[in-house]
Amino acid sequence: MKKETTETNNIQKEITCNNCGAKLIFEPGTDNLKCEFCGAVNKIETDETEKAEAVKELDYENFVNNNNSEKIKITTIKCDTCGAETTFDSDIITSICDFCGSPLISENTHTSEIISPKALLPFKITKKQALELYQKKIQKLWFAPSKLKTKTGNTAKLSGVYIPFWTFDTHTHINYRGKRGDDYIEKTISDDGETISSRRTRWTNVSGNINMYFNDIIVPASKSLPTDLIYDLDPWNLKELVPYNTKYLSGFKTETYQINLKKGFDTAKIKIEPDIRFKIRQDIGGDRQQIDFVNTEYSNTKFKHILMPVWISSYKYNDKIYRFIINAQTGKVKTERPWSKIKIIIAVAAIISITGALIYFLQNIN
Ligand SMILES: [Zn+2]
Ligand SMILES: [Zn+2]
Repeated sequence: MKKETTETNNIQKEITCNNCGAKLIFEPGTDNLKCEFCGAVNKIETDETEKAEAVKELDYENFVNNNNSEKIKITTIKCDTCGAETTFDSDIITSICDFCGSPLISENTHTSEIISPKALLPFKITKKQALELYQKKIQKLWFAPSKLKTKTGNTAKLSGVYIPFWTFDTHTHINYRGKRGDDYIEKTISDDGETISSRRTRWTNVSGNINMYFNDIIVPASKSLPTDLIYDLDPWNLKELVPYNTKYLSGFKTETYQINLKKGFDTAKIKIEPDIRFKIRQDIGGDRQQIDFVNTEYSNTKFKHILMPVWISSYKYNDKIYRFIINAQTGKVKTERPWSKIKIIIAVAAIISITGALIYFLQNIN
């Protein structure tokens, strides 16, 4: 592998302790880099132009057609098992993939050019807090195998990783056709003279146009975590975004995006579909609606490439991988978990016998 360029050497210098020469690490919950050895503290300075730049969105069409956005060169390592690709730091000997627990092979490193992240949410939850949240959650898992609780409780290996996301703003012009259903009561007289009321629906053909604006549609640019698990980490407070600065990354790994910008926007379109259909139903009105055709045009689309912080741990149990993730901005915890068959059987058996006893008791009460 080739040694780093001068550009990365400069970054290296910036995150080296003036006092003792050790590597400075970003300290969660602050805007400081801290030396783990001598305790020296370095504030990360951000000027106003950088701040304004960070929240500014880029033009989607312009980018997709001309491909002229800022790019950066990075060295990454890819996991053969789950496909996660994270930045490779030659200082840290990484042997295990954070996303699936499989061994990483150092030959799988390579340098590539990617769209530079514009902004990021810094870590707020410290590793110590994350570990406490992890242990609390593991102890509380109902019907989890006891072996898991004793095993993972003490040996939890938590890694701080920045996960890539795309955000989109877009104007939509929606064209629809459908039917509006208005209910009414129809009264009929039966053979024996009784009045029967029944509900009927009168359907009329409708069509219309709606304009909707969507702001900050957040979609993951990572494939290494299940999508529902990532969406469960919501909400993120994007007001706390800071300009992208490698100093914030020091001490953590950064996953590179595997879902490109175009595919990211496709996902965003799917994500907003329920909102569009809801709005169409409102527009149609009446008691019932049927949507037959929808055409959506997107214009003035802007995007941002951002990084969000998570603490992650993966463990293998009975040959299956389970992941534990913490939103490192809010402390929200999400977990995939194994179920103990034996504990469930015992619980079901207990419920059955209690019910049986109760029935016996009720039958013999008089
Ligand atoms: Zn130091
Ligand atoms: Zn992996």
